[in-house]
Amino acid sequence: MTKYQLSIFPEKCAGCLRCQLACSEVYTRTFNPAAARIRVEISGADCTIAFNEDCNRCGLCADHCLYRALEKKPLEGES
Ligand code: SF4
Ligand code: SF4
Repeated sequence: MTKYQLSIFPEKCAGCLRCQLACSEVYTRTFNPAAARIRVEISGADCTIAFNEDCNRCGLCADHCLYRALEKKPLEGES
């Protein structure tokens, strides 16, 4: 599996949770944002995005972000 460097741009985040849904579906077979390895928290105009220690940098969440709040680049040595 290719691993990616993931960059986050919270200012672009719409809070749609597509990233969390995609991650939870693939890794837990449930549509459960709380089970995702990425966590988006919206508080007023502020947004924070964080990956937990189980994240394997697969980049799937970035593929599902329509707002470019997550971007991926292959890690050095990966193709
Ligand atoms: S990179 Fe993969 S494992 Fe990590 S949060 Fe995104 S979808 Fe989940
Ligand atoms: S998919 Fe992108 S825009 Fe939607 S909550 Fe996740 S980071 Fe934010």
